[in-house]
Amino acid sequence: MNPDECPVCDTGVLATWQVAATNETIRVCDECDGVWEATDELPGPPLTTIEQFLLLRGRPPLWSELHRLDEAPAS
Ligand SMILES: [Zn+2]
Repeated sequence: MNPDECPVCDTGVLATWQVAATNETIRVCDECDGVWEATDELPGPPLTTIEQFLLLRGRPPLWSELHRLDEAPAS
């Protein structure tokens, strides 16, 4: 299994993001919006969704709250 494949929806890809407000590093599925800790063993159940994750921290549920960490460098 591709380690970046989402174990929940099987079609999404997990990307690593940093939460601007808290500096937490999380992995988020681009299809089902599932959230995992960066250190979670996969496959495993997601903690929550990105919307709930941000709302719980008092942040608006927007992608602008996150910084992508694993963008592939241009070659
Ligand atoms: Zn997914």
